[in-house]
Amino acid sequence: MKLHEYQSKYIFSKYGIPIPKGRVAATADEAKRIAEELGGRVVIKSQVLVGGRGKAGGIKVAKDANDAEQLAAQILSMHIKDLPVRKVLVDEAANIQTEIYLGITNDRAARKPVMMASSAGGVDIEEVAHTTPEKIIKVHIDPLLGLRDYQARDIAAGIDLPRELWREFNTIALNLWRVYAENDATLVEINPLIINGDNNKLMALDGKMIIDDNALFRHVNLAEMRDLDEEAPAETEARRHGLSYIKLDGTIGCMVNGAGLAMTTMDIVKLFGGEPANFLDVGGGAGAEKVAAAMKIILTDKNVKAVLFNIFGGITRCDEVARGILAAMDEVKPNVPMVVRLVGTNAEEGRRLLADANMITAETLVDAAQKSVKAAGIKK
Ligand code: GDP
Ligand code: MN
Repeated sequence: MKLHEYQSKYIFSKYGIPIPKGRVAATADEAKRIAEELGGRVVIKSQVLVGGRGKAGGIKVAKDANDAEQLAAQILSMHIKDLPVRKVLVDEAANIQTEIYLGITNDRAARKPVMMASSAGGVDIEEVAHTTPEKIIKVHIDPLLGLRDYQARDIAAGIDLPRELWREFNTIALNLWRVYAENDATLVEINPLIINGDNNKLMALDGKMIIDDNALFRHVNLAEMRDLDEEAPAETEARRHGLSYIKLDGTIGCMVNGAGLAMTTMDIVKLFGGEPANFLDVGGGAGAEKVAAAMKIILTDKNVKAVLFNIFGGITRCDEVARGILAAMDEVKPNVPMVVRLVGTNAEEGRRLLADANMITAETLVDAAQKSVKAAGIKK
């Protein structure tokens, strides 16, 4: 789950990381009032869950409250990377002297979190990572020990931070580690962390956090921050039904029980020249209702040209799955071909139920994948 900038910075501030004064507004009028409170010169920042807002024109500096009102109106009518801007953050404008990048994420290959920093922070950090990777300092963090003082000092030295800011930087880096660890984040990022030209102090001007969805059960406060407006509706719907669904760009909708089997199914679809439209794991022991919900979600994707059901009945009963498919077909009247492979518990009964449903049946996974690629009209 991604958090908005204003939410991330609020959490940063709770952990003692300095942030600018500011508040969120949903209307231009509100933005004006906040600007008045803050003394006029403010930045208006679109709150959408994508990067590169600055470059897209979603961040503007206002010279006074009236200007803030106008710019807020303008930004609130924008779409950034197809997402409508519904809120803006109105922050006291900062006098930027230097822009530093500071972030933590998981390094899967090293099986450890890694802190990354660069003196070349700001909107072009991806470019920096690509063309001059040596300008990015990386330090792996032992998850049991946490970030050590000496590591934070190494980073400060590595990015040529002025000596007089090392102590401050140390505190921010250690606090950012606590934000990361204590909130089960998979990414925390400050870009830019600035040296403020007015008082020569460090401040987090931007904030980004991604929380591990599987840990949200133990972070009720974070779970409540989820912005449903910003998610693909299909993914929200899937979560409501306890389904693991990820939309992809292909044309073959996949409904499978078990994450491993779902991955295998996608691999085999690709092997025969198809592209999966989604990952979907209905989970073990899914009943008819859940299956019907899953099928409706798959069929809301307009790219889907064929649906492949690959059900390996164990705890899941194939007859239950068949009933779910029938219920969903009754409701949504799909007009794409469907290929079904049922094996295992109650497969016979499942197949009998589906016999009149005008579905393409398959015996093996290879057979099912080939038939669905053909049904979707993909030529090799
Ligand atoms: P992003 O483009 O989505 O990463 O948004 P950021 O919050 O990082 O802002 C992008 C850029 O806008 C920053 O790198 C700054 O150069 C500029 N910016 C943001 N806030 C301020 C501010 O308070 N004052 C000034 N002068 N520039 C700002
Ligand atoms: Mn940024």
